[in-house]
Amino acid sequence: MIHLSKLIISEEAKAKVRDILDSGMLANGTYTSQFEKKFSRYCGRLYGVATSSGTTALHVALLALGIGPGDKVLTTPFSFIASSNAILYCGARPVFCDIDPQTFNIDPAQIRKALKKDKDIKALLVVHLYGLPCSLEEIVEIAKEFGLKLIEDCAQAAGAEFQDKKVGSFGDVGCFSFYATKNMTTGEGGMVLTDDDDLARRCRSLINHGRTARSSHNVLGYNYRMTDIAAALGLCQLEKLDEFNAKRIDNAHYLTENLRELDWIDTPVIPLGCKHVFHQYTVRVRSRDKFVERLAAGGVESAIFYPLPIPQQPFYPDLGYGGGSYPEARRASLEVASLPVHPALSKADLAKIVEVVKSFGGFYEDC
Ligand SMILES: *Cc1c(COP(=O)(O)O)cnc(C)c1O
Repeated sequence: MIHLSKLIISEEAKAKVRDILDSGMLANGTYTSQFEKKFSRYCGRLYGVATSSGTTALHVALLALGIGPGDKVLTTPFSFIASSNAILYCGARPVFCDIDPQTFNIDPAQIRKALKKDKDIKALLVVHLYGLPCSLEEIVEIAKEFGLKLIEDCAQAAGAEFQDKKVGSFGDVGCFSFYATKNMTTGEGGMVLTDDDDLARRCRSLINHGRTARSSHNVLGYNYRMTDIAAALGLCQLEKLDEFNAKRIDNAHYLTENLRELDWIDTPVIPLGCKHVFHQYTVRVRSRDKFVERLAAGGVESAIFYPLPIPQQPFYPDLGYGGGSYPEARRASLEVASLPVHPALSKADLAKIVEVVKSFGGFYEDC
């Protein structure tokens, strides 16, 4: 079986973790602050606050921006559930806005429509899905025009660029995840990036039980800290990130070159000015479920990100999300499938993926 993701941990990373264990100082914070400095510098931002996960990074970023009960945050219905749940954690309400069917990212035209209809929206939380930057030029412009806070969910897009600038450096904050399957990992982990020192200070306090001075806790905070073991892995992974991403891009290029001629499959689109880092290589196929079965039978693992728009998840209707209009997100959830594109794929693996995908052509029925 060719798997959808593969963990690559260097000997150097293993040695570093061993050093920390041997030192007996597991919560010193030295590796964590080094990782914050290096990762924020890599992304072109002034401050980084490392967290226990991407989800907790989003939660504290929203809190630090002042999002609270009664506030509305405009976001995409087509993402991992964490991006919307983080809004719910703050007591605020996600408002869902449809995606662009070509890129699967939030559609700026739909954002404008939603903002005209609902004057109470306070912030915009966008997701660079699959590693592809959103239309940031327009989105930054809209945020300015309507006076909205802008949060970038970069969980799938570490190293991605829009007009030669790293994602995570466009919004008021950029939030990253270093979960095991992401383009770089610390096992579990995340980071908030910003250029606003006050915002960074509030995030740092919120992840540490609201602590400001020693034993003085001014607000209700959380324990969302990153461990030094995780940060040590993060430092090593960061050194490999460009190489990993280059391999993903090469693999994606190979797949697209070999699949683009098939008339029953849509390969990923890369808009001008975007560096797509292919966290996922996601195609669109109308008889998707049969396609996925064929891949599995042929020894190629695939996955569906995501089989349901977030507001259709079973507990969302209980919160008052029933209908909503996001036809493109609904259609995408029925038609997408992600193929292996990770950096550990061999030439033979790639050739086999192409062969198995092509073999589906014979079974294809227009439906
Ligand atoms: C992975 C992911 C998250 C959450 O990150 P965790 O580290 O798993 O908490 C948030 N948003 C998106 C788009 C993700 O892919």
